[in-house]
Amino acid sequence: MPMAGIYGPDDFDNPLHRHPAAQPRSRVSPAARALPMPLLAWTPEVERTTAHLYQRVKNVISPIEWPFMAPYIKAINELKKTRDAVILAHNYQTPEIFHCVADIVGDSLQLAIEATKVKSDIIVQCGVHFMAETSKILNPHKTVLIPDSRAGCSLASSITGADVRLLRQRFPGVPVVAYVNTSADVKAEVDICCTSSNAVQVVESLNAPTVIFLPDQYLAKYVASKTDVKIIAWKGACEVHERFTGDELRAYREADPSVQIIAHPECPPDVLAEADFTGSTAHMINWVRNKRPKRVVMITECSMADNVRAELPDVEMVRPCNLCPHMKRITLPKILDSLVYLREEVTVDPLIAERARRSVERMINLKN
Ligand code: SF4
Repeated sequence: MPMAGIYGPDDFDNPLHRHPAAQPRSRVSPAARALPMPLLAWTPEVERTTAHLYQRVKNVISPIEWPFMAPYIKAINELKKTRDAVILAHNYQTPEIFHCVADIVGDSLQLAIEATKVKSDIIVQCGVHFMAETSKILNPHKTVLIPDSRAGCSLASSITGADVRLLRQRFPGVPVVAYVNTSADVKAEVDICCTSSNAVQVVESLNAPTVIFLPDQYLAKYVASKTDVKIIAWKGACEVHERFTGDELRAYREADPSVQIIAHPECPPDVLAEADFTGSTAHMINWVRNKRPKRVVMITECSMADNVRAELPDVEMVRPCNLCPHMKRITLPKILDSLVYLREEVTVDPLIAERARRSVERMINLKN
């Protein structure tokens, strides 16, 4: 179905767009709750207690790098127990985080669902701010920490709740679906959330002839190509995935006609047209696990290829290394600081959180 239009902030006279008051806030927890900083030396004991973890990442982390990481990994894993904390890590986190300190890993949908089952008092979100907000929305009585609250997202910052209200005025009665890559403020204004795993299913679940889909224009185009529902889109884009080009993919295939190319639906249409498979990060990982191609190009954030390669050393990864600068703000030293000082705590206005929770839970219940 052709798209029914793409709108952006320039199409509305919206003084609240990117207004600081519309953005979520994090606050630093009181230093009174701090624990002593552990010693961070590479000792025989650190080497022994982390040896089994190094086995998980030895294909992607060199023996020279490991002595700098292992003391942090040991300290973080011990502090998790002291703090009764759980670490959630997105697929785009680096291998030493993803494979060595995370308790739960996955894409946005998997993390959102797992966040509802967490028993620990503290959640440390290794991902970007909207993911930590989603965990807080689903766990209002828990402490949710993000190791660096500047870890944003070009999609989440492309739209505000006020923009959604203006879209509703322009298209009265048309239901609104928000990709989870949005602020709590936006989630509070929409009918239901979706991820790249379930976007088509969510759009069709509304039984409406036309749906407003925001904020990713490329995911919206991908959804429009898979459904008869008319899609009205927003002009947002992921700054990582929009950098890929169809020419780049054709060059990979010319260099090796047997290579398999798999792409994330946040990529532009000319990129998806060249791919052998399109899917969310979770679907891409499962595709590689099941097909076991000899060589694969993963058209998505670079660290995911490292994480899959650590698990499947027989698959050769060709890595067009587009890094997400926001995901890369999360590091082992910052995770340790987060657990020692209980920072940075993510808060969401309770009234916004209650409305945003309805949109997220509607998606989760659909999935279940
Ligand atoms: S990879 Fe793209 S969508 Fe994901 S957090 Fe980074 S900017 Fe946002």
